[in-house]
Amino acid sequence: MMLLAGCDSGASGTTDRGTGTPDAARAARKPTAPATAPPAAVWARWGLQPLPAAPVPPAVKPVKLGRAGPVPVVSRIPTRNKVVFITIDDGAEKAPEFVRMMRELRVPITMFLTDAAIKSNYGYFTKLQQLGNSIQNHTISHPNLNTLGLAAQHAEICGQEQKLTKEYGKAPYLFRPPYGNYNADTLTAVKECGPKAVVLWKESMQIRDMQYQNADRKLSPGDIILAHFRGPAELKRHTMTQMFANMLRRIKEQGYAVGRLDDYL
Ligand SMILES: [Zn+2]
Repeated sequence: MMLLAGCDSGASGTTDRGTGTPDAARAARKPTAPATAPPAAVWARWGLQPLPAAPVPPAVKPVKLGRAGPVPVVSRIPTRNKVVFITIDDGAEKAPEFVRMMRELRVPITMFLTDAAIKSNYGYFTKLQQLGNSIQNHTISHPNLNTLGLAAQHAEICGQEQKLTKEYGKAPYLFRPPYGNYNADTLTAVKECGPKAVVLWKESMQIRDMQYQNADRKLSPGDIILAHFRGPAELKRHTMTQMFANMLRRIKEQGYAVGRLDDYL
């Protein structure tokens, strides 16, 4: 997704509406939209209809990071647009078909990876990273951090920060605690280890539908959705791509686009 100077109020393609923008400037911006929108035939190959185009990301990210005090804990991005954000955790399943799906559909994802799940094949996630998807910290061994003291939490978080930086060439700036469990020591360790925010979620994707935290069982603007790298053994014989297609159907049904979390946080 291109980071254009723009506002947080409309879909891409609406920025030059009725403002008397010179033709040259309008023409110069035009090519950006089709570059990120796969044709309907590509969506159909995966049994899907096209998702709405993602809105142009805000020029200034709505969540400020790097401030004094504890790192922020975020489960929803402040926005009025019908956009949600997909995060995928752990890294156990490494289906080649899913890389193909992401390459064709160009749906942005953010990966929270745990070393115990990925160390058998770090290269799998490099392929997803090369599509523009970022890799973030989800500990070395996926413990319940509430059962650990500060030193042990520090080792889990800083250790994974170092491993991911070495394997993927970029230091994660976001952290997700396994099971969503964290305490004051976690926030201290996160800050010392480098990540600038703790990222939780509002919906959790299962096999066919999402578990919603809100009683109305609906997406809200800016919701962060949790999914996992899981395969047929964990998904009652459904594949990772089937699960992901189901998630996109639920998002499409409710009229939402999928944005790139890194553009907002
Ligand atoms: Zn996890």
